[in-house]
Amino acid sequence: MITAIRQDNPYVLLTPGPLSTTPTVKGAMMRDWCTWDDDYNNLVQEVRQKLVSLATPQTDDYTAVLMQGSGSFSVESVIGSVIPKTGKLLVLVNGAYGQRIAQMAEVLGIATTVVHFGEVSPATCEDLEATLEADTSITHVAFVHCETTTGILNPLAALSEVVKRHDKVLIVDAMSSFGGVQMDVTELGIDFLISSANKCIQGVPGFGFIVAKRTSLEVCAGQARSVSLDLYDQWATMEKQGGKWRFTSPTHVVRAFHQALIELEEEGGIAAREERYTLNQRILVEVMEGLGLQTLLTRDVQSPIITAFRYPDSSNFTFKELYNRLKEEGFVIYPGKISAADTFRIGNIGDVHPADMERLVEVIARNRFWV
Ligand SMILES: *Cc1c(COP(=O)(O)O)cnc(C)c1O
Repeated sequence: MITAIRQDNPYVLLTPGPLSTTPTVKGAMMRDWCTWDDDYNNLVQEVRQKLVSLATPQTDDYTAVLMQGSGSFSVESVIGSVIPKTGKLLVLVNGAYGQRIAQMAEVLGIATTVVHFGEVSPATCEDLEATLEADTSITHVAFVHCETTTGILNPLAALSEVVKRHDKVLIVDAMSSFGGVQMDVTELGIDFLISSANKCIQGVPGFGFIVAKRTSLEVCAGQARSVSLDLYDQWATMEKQGGKWRFTSPTHVVRAFHQALIELEEEGGIAAREERYTLNQRILVEVMEGLGLQTLLTRDVQSPIITAFRYPDSSNFTFKELYNRLKEEGFVIYPGKISAADTFRIGNIGDVHPADMERLVEVIARNRFWV
């Protein structure tokens, strides 16, 4: 299926969030819902159950909380709600989203240690282990799984193992990977996993969600440093009142997300989606390399979510020119986001299929204005 240049959409978004969604996901929003009616609350409960099922087969031990706002609001609700006053957070940083977690902790006045890994290297178990051994006052560890800044994939299983061996609470920003990369929160020992509606589940933007280990969330009452971002309170209300949100919820967006979850199942679940994204990425990189364009990252740390390319070595190249030409032919790409190198980024997620990627690389091959 080629989704480029549809009547309702002049271009395919190759930007990982917001991303291209199916006409049926968008169509699901064409109905108004009451926030406290059973019809809507039952829908919310179904969404919460489905999220837990996607995260682990051990569904009794975990629960899901939905939170208004973009993904960062959900991250901030976790950071601000789960670390007690006496706690200390360790943040592993190798991009803008890891840095944002550190910034949130700082603004919230939480005792924090930050370990930096530069912009193009994964976080390492050695540095994590050494930091935990040197400072036993650390109680919580947070890191990003897929750092969307570059598309780097941090070694989730290995890092989680170290955190769990040291008996710390584990917070993972899996915003751009959950739903597109297989993972089991029980096996990994993740206490709080964060993602949002408009990434790999392929919904539209408007809320984020947290898959939490019940026993880890239950101890967080009264700890939040914010009223509207109080994770425990949001959860307790949803739990006790059968899917009710505390404040106005993005009803249309939740309905679209429910449809997106059904479509994820129809596609064959996360395994099938990961396969499609991986194929998208492979088609993209193979042709781009053939055209002389280099990826920023080495293959072993590259995620199937988004790929960063170095600017070609030519004074004729400008990102703006490439962007405009691709947009004209039905594709919107992303600028780079790191300081160490000039890059642009192309996302593989959303309602984007191998045929779209093949058309994209054909368009790029025809538009090499810089050579
Ligand atoms: C998208 C994303 C976020 C959240 O960004 P918002 O703009 O607030 O939705 C956080 N972390 C990562 C890794 C992301 O990709």
